[in-house]
Amino acid sequence: MAFSSERTASTLVFLEGSRSKMQYDADELRGTDPADGRTLLARYDLDGARSRLTKEVLASRRGGLWRWEELLPVRIRSFITTLGEGATPLLGPARLAGKLGMAGLHIKAESVNPTGSFKARGMAVAVSRAVELGATHLVVPSAGNAAGALAAYSAAAGVSSTVVMPADAPAANQQEALACGARVILLDGLISDCGRLARFISEQTAAFDMATLREPYRVEGKKTLGFEIAEDFGWSLPDAVVYPTGGGTGLIGMWKAFDELEALGLIGSARPRMYAVQSDGCAPIVRAFEEGAEFANPWSGAATRAAGIRVPSALGDHLILECIRHSGGGAIAVPETEIEGMQAYAARQGAGYLCLESCAALAALPMMLERGLIRADERIAVFDTGAGFKSEPRAPDPLAVVPNDPNAWPEVIARQYHSSR
Ligand SMILES: *Cc1c(COP(=O)(O)O)cnc(C)c1O
Repeated sequence: MAFSSERTASTLVFLEGSRSKMQYDADELRGTDPADGRTLLARYDLDGARSRLTKEVLASRRGGLWRWEELLPVRIRSFITTLGEGATPLLGPARLAGKLGMAGLHIKAESVNPTGSFKARGMAVAVSRAVELGATHLVVPSAGNAAGALAAYSAAAGVSSTVVMPADAPAANQQEALACGARVILLDGLISDCGRLARFISEQTAAFDMATLREPYRVEGKKTLGFEIAEDFGWSLPDAVVYPTGGGTGLIGMWKAFDELEALGLIGSARPRMYAVQSDGCAPIVRAFEEGAEFANPWSGAATRAAGIRVPSALGDHLILECIRHSGGGAIAVPETEIEGMQAYAARQGAGYLCLESCAALAALPMMLERGLIRADERIAVFDTGAGFKSEPRAPDPLAVVPNDPNAWPEVIARQYHSSR
């Protein structure tokens, strides 16, 4: 293999403790802030990036989220591991928008990412950077999609991976991780329990822990959602962002992205109101928001079929709460019983077969309209965070099979078209 030492245009300077504000060398493989165990965030030379990353330059670039390389951490080009992530379309689901009475409804189609979910953004960047800094074995606790993405990007980068999932993680995620050659460990517990096992594995082996916000770079990949939203909306941000929130990487990342874009002079100081949506079966952020708390207490008995937002306690809780408060947004718990109904409804209204997490966000919209949190004429960005088929725990009830015999086919017409469905 030809070794290329060609440098990217990354302007990464240091890592900063998200609470301690302590600064650390960014060119060492690091997990959390040694000062307080909280998240480390990447800081860039934004003045340096400003002259190079203009709208014209961006428009001329290809390469999905790597178009933003000045504001990404990878320094040597050959360490970029890509499967084609990012640059997803922003759709206007006309029939669904009409039914909901929200002409300005937009859905960012993140399920077209590699691995069928937006976890690809975070893992593309974090795996690339971890391998650049010397990691050879990566481990992640996951509700499902992060596991599939870690396995796929580790395979692409040529390093080993271990994924730890709750035993009831969606079948598609288990198969995806196995097919990509990961060690797959199913735990009789929740994602937070998987996090403890993943930490144990990383202490006992050479595996580097890639858990949400326990290393600095998945959020860097996720923040490209914010860059793209700005670009998609013609460099003026939407009025509100409605986001199905688990660990909160996407919200935290977009909020960071907007500040970076403003420093580059690409947008002004206006920000969308940021809303975190959770299921009422697991709503620690909503509860903390309503109580005015700085941190969220762990949610006991967490239960929702939307696996990606079944996160009883998030390390980035304070960052999520800070973002939604500063933005003038909020946090909404949707009844668990409405999520599956919205999945079928949105699909029939032509918005595609979306994952349950996205449908939790869609189900929040009528509630938000009613409470006056959003207005019908506003520009709203919702995220199709993963494909519907990735949420399926099992096959549907078997459908009748038609005999391969033309004599039996009139019966098909009678059953499918002449009886009431
Ligand atoms: C992980 C995940 C989420 C939650 O994303 P966070 O940024 O961790 O809050 C939402 N939807 C899907 C499909 C996911 O996989």
